[in-house]
Amino acid sequence: MDMQVSFLDRLFESGLLIETGVDGLYGRSGRFEGVIAAFERLIDRYGAADDAEAIRFPPGMNRAYFEKSGYMKSFPQLAGTVHSFCGCELDHVSLLKCMDEGSDWTAEQKATDIVLTPAACYPLYPTVAKRGNLPEAGGLYDLQSYCFRHEPSNDPARQQLFRMREYVRMGTQADVTDFRQTWMDRGVKMMAEVGLPVEIDVANDPFFGRAGKMLANNQRDQNLKFELLIPITSVTKPTACMSFNYHQDAFGTKWGLNLADGTVAHTACVGFGLERIALALFHHHGLDTDAWPASVRAALWG
Ligand code: ATP
Ligand code: ZN
Ligand code: MG
Repeated sequence: MDMQVSFLDRLFESGLLIETGVDGLYGRSGRFEGVIAAFERLIDRYGAADDAEAIRFPPGMNRAYFEKSGYMKSFPQLAGTVHSFCGCELDHVSLLKCMDEGSDWTAEQKATDIVLTPAACYPLYPTVAKRGNLPEAGGLYDLQSYCFRHEPSNDPARQQLFRMREYVRMGTQADVTDFRQTWMDRGVKMMAEVGLPVEIDVANDPFFGRAGKMLANNQRDQNLKFELLIPITSVTKPTACMSFNYHQDAFGTKWGLNLADGTVAHTACVGFGLERIALALFHHHGLDTDAWPASVRAALWG
């Protein structure tokens, strides 16, 4: 635990991350962003031949889509909603009075049509479903978004607002499981290129509550989720820097995603935790990028 605090402190002291007074909410320096940008170009190179369709959504999504996704059933503890003041002038007066008195002014805030995006792929499924049946070859999408998860922590690798780069494949079971395996192999190769030690392990999502335990066990038993783990703040509990998720036909059924022949699509997504990868690089190679091993610098900056 001491390790964690001191790595975060060193990140603050070096200016790589900038304190905001909220655990898990940080500013990033130009140098930190430079590492993320370079790693994204490396991802681009690995994915280039696949010709994915690039789409960028903002870090908020349509609340109706969020509701339909079932996120509140599985992960209510992580969700973040956007609320706004929607009152009249009289309400404004009482709002300011409330703030003056130091009492809770947020209770009167009303939910807007926007919810913070919990994972980069969430806005994609309804978007693709609206287009009608998928093309003959299925679909392949390249996404990146800031994501919000309410999990405040002093572990710098667990932030509340962080970026996820994702590839999402829609197709037959074989299409999407091949895609997932391809990216597991690529992930291992990429991390070797940048000098990071990895291990791949089966994993589960943090489904809420007692019923959630069963969902998590089922996800593990069926090998639906794998993670690429790199030691950052702990050697015994390495950090998930990539995840590889096979949704079977669950999203296909929920959103009405159909293949060219009208059958339900299977889907899989592969996510890179961009801040976590940058932090792993700083942890293993030091806080000064100029002093990183030549091979790592070459992989990132040519
Ligand atoms: P963990 O088990 O550490 O909570 P996760 O299983 O919740 O991770 P996913 O939901 O699969 O992670 O998210 C995809 C990727 O986003 C992860 O592999 C990770 O690299 C990154 N990620 C997830 N949560 C965070 C976070 N709180 N801060 C920074 N990166 C994160
Ligand atoms: Zn996803
Ligand atoms: Mg998590």
